[in-house]
Amino acid sequence: MLEPAVKQQLYHSNYRKGYSDDVDVLRDLEYPSLKETTYLDHAATTPYAKSLIETFSRDLTGNLFGNPHSASLSSQLTTRRIEDIRLRMLQFFNADPEAFDLVFVANATAGIKLVADALRDFDGSGFCYAYHVDSHTSLVGVRELAENGKKCLLSDAEVDRWIADLEQDSPDEKASTRLFAYPAQSNMTGRRLPLRWCKEIREATDSGGHQRTFTLLDVASLVSTSPFDLSDASAAPDFTVLSFYKIFGFPDLGALIVRKGAGDIFQRRRYFGGGTVDMVVTHGDQWHAKKESSVHDKLEDGTLPFHNIIALDSALQTHYRLYGSMANISAHTGLLADELFKQLSSKVHWNGRKVCHIFTSSASGCRDPLNYGPIITFNLQDSQGGWVGKSEVEKMAAVRNIQIRSGTLCNPGGMTAQLGLCDDEMKRNFAAGQRCGDENDIIDGKPTGALRVSLGAMTNMRDIEVFLAFIDEFYVEKAPELDILRVPMQVPDPNFYVESLCVYPIKSCGSFKVASGQRWEIRREGFAWDREWCLIHQGTGVALNQKRYPRMALIQPYIDLNRGVLRITLPDHSGSDPQSLEVSLAKEDPDLVAAEICRSSKKTSTVCGDLVTVQVYSSPSVSAFFSDFLNVPCTLARFPPQTSTRYSKPRRPFVRKTKHTGNDMPGAFPERPMSSPERQNPILLSNESPVLLISRSSVNRLNETIKANSKNGGRISRAVAADVFRANIVVAENTSNGSSLPNIVEQPYAEDSWMSLCIGPERLQFDVLGHCQRCQMVCIDQLTGTRSEEPFSTLAKHRRVDGKVVFGRHICLSADERSDDNFSEPKTIMVGDTVIPSWDGRV
Ligand SMILES: *Cc1c(COP(=O)(O)O)cnc(C)c1O
Repeated sequence: MLEPAVKQQLYHSNYRKGYSDDVDVLRDLEYPSLKETTYLDHAATTPYAKSLIETFSRDLTGNLFGNPHSASLSSQLTTRRIEDIRLRMLQFFNADPEAFDLVFVANATAGIKLVADALRDFDGSGFCYAYHVDSHTSLVGVRELAENGKKCLLSDAEVDRWIADLEQDSPDEKASTRLFAYPAQSNMTGRRLPLRWCKEIREATDSGGHQRTFTLLDVASLVSTSPFDLSDASAAPDFTVLSFYKIFGFPDLGALIVRKGAGDIFQRRRYFGGGTVDMVVTHGDQWHAKKESSVHDKLEDGTLPFHNIIALDSALQTHYRLYGSMANISAHTGLLADELFKQLSSKVHWNGRKVCHIFTSSASGCRDPLNYGPIITFNLQDSQGGWVGKSEVEKMAAVRNIQIRSGTLCNPGGMTAQLGLCDDEMKRNFAAGQRCGDENDIIDGKPTGALRVSLGAMTNMRDIEVFLAFIDEFYVEKAPELDILRVPMQVPDPNFYVESLCVYPIKSCGSFKVASGQRWEIRREGFAWDREWCLIHQGTGVALNQKRYPRMALIQPYIDLNRGVLRITLPDHSGSDPQSLEVSLAKEDPDLVAAEICRSSKKTSTVCGDLVTVQVYSSPSVSAFFSDFLNVPCTLARFPPQTSTRYSKPRRPFVRKTKHTGNDMPGAFPERPMSSPERQNPILLSNESPVLLISRSSVNRLNETIKANSKNGGRISRAVAADVFRANIVVAENTSNGSSLPNIVEQPYAEDSWMSLCIGPERLQFDVLGHCQRCQMVCIDQLTGTRSEEPFSTLAKHRRVDGKVVFGRHICLSADERSDDNFSEPKTIMVGDTVIPSWDGRV
């Protein structure tokens, strides 16, 4: 929290100076979408004001806008408005229309690509490309078009040297085409780069008016919260690119501002389209005459996004009305960012270690507010100096409804430099499977990315306070933490037993509880029928999960072994009978419902990054069943296991000899196990491990912690049910057990130190594979499909190991239990089976 004195001071300085009203009032009136949330991702896009949309809506409904390039009144209206707006946007940047032209493009990237394409075609001999290491990915990509060489300049000093070298160039070198590109402000660190380079480069390479070295300035990040001034055309970049949605929130549109003196490079652009030619001859002579009138006429192929351009009118108007000027926004956001930086950099753990490692350009970690935009990128460290995984923080932030961004933030050069990664490490990480947007947060002890918070015009004091309090609550260690992995006291003769068994026939949907008294088959791959099916998005082919579609929890599967069907039931909302659907358990069974719906087509589906071939139920009624309920186009699919032979043989009925129990065979695989030659741990759809085990005592302890926290002034939180953890096996302790020993106490988290266990009368041997890493999916109430904060909030505070939040153990039937021959007894488990764990040094 900010000190009241600090707050007072802030209020009296640049805070909201020049705004039409107090920021909190503006927020209430103009940004209803920000009401419940702490939005700190303005560098990606800032939200639009309500009046912008209302003004635009009135403009659209009050006018008839025709397609431009025609004589009709409606067309003329559109043309006139576009020309107006083009001028006004130039004025927004103090650009003289005599010296500059503005080309509407889809976004900053499209502007960059137009320049790169033009230079490639310019004089037939290609171009050389140099770019600053802080460049956005979209600038880096230009290098692939530069046939005459490319160079990444690794520091400002290197740019200065490069410019100095230009002056020494031979006339030949001066005559070759070159492009230098850089961002006016890094979208990653917020650092502002020198604007003087454009002028210096022009002066260094001027050879009597024949310009061959061009400058491309990416102002996309800078202009979102700052003024940008092109009034001195001689010092201006040749090409300037930006995206309007980053300034106004809407429309989705960008601009390329061309200094007319450099407009020649577009002369040889090869492509033409409707809009960019005056005449085209198609019979015989393949001739055309390009438009010569202006740069934008030559470049705006096809119909302009004219409604979007017209929206800029409303955007500008609203922006001026609410904020007065970009300078006001710059002062306001700069002030908040400076305070945020100060507060974050002063956060320390109980032992004095810093909590936030913030990216700045100086080794001292200083940040001159004048040289930075309102962007702060950092990684967190625990009290022992270990890195906290960025996606862990992002998950926790999501639970708290705080919106930040993590990853490499589209800034490959800047990020590598900040993280101290070398190219070889990057390639190694890639080979090891790291991809943009994944959860490989830390590889070889080094972070692979970072967290970014970025502010915008309507960010208020409260946003900053909420974020600081969040860091404080979850990531600042106030006292030495007891190592949660310390081997807990183990009672000599624990009385663990299987309290419940669940399988999840459809990934991410409801559970099927194995009835007590029923034995259920288990193999190396996991329990029979567990995650055998999934729902896939019909557009992307990706398996759906509860994180995105919490209502999946309400889809209730039931395995009816007698009838050989999987029955899927939806909750009854309409008062009519609950809807249900049946599919055959047999892979191919023409007699069952599946015959109608199981005309499956092969399709690839992504489950956790791996491509898996699935059988899709292509019947419209199946997809409608799920799509209507979840409100997303999806359908049911079945995953053949990686041991592809598993279902290839006809089903052979079991005759189970009732050796240990009086129960008949049960939840069985549809056929006998095949021998699997490999000894490694088989992993199916369940994607982390074959079987997940949790302990009732640990759930109880966790609930006590949740309650204690909420008593200590935390938020009011209810206890959570064990089923949010979606375990296959819940073990519990028999604390009375008829034993004469009084007071056998529960051993919460005892399972953390288990190395292996055996279950049941046959003492089936299981290996413990590791901790189960948790995400915010545990916050979805499995009965109602609604989200809350717990238990993730409490887990994140009390159950973090190596920067990861863990609860429960992944286990797997030991390789020694593999049945090599097809006639051996199936392995089974049932509720009530004894569980005998072994841990370090004890068997
Ligand atoms: C956002 C951004 C871009 C890319 O903008 P698009 O709208 O995605 O084309 C490029 N450079 C910088 C510095 C940015 O911040």
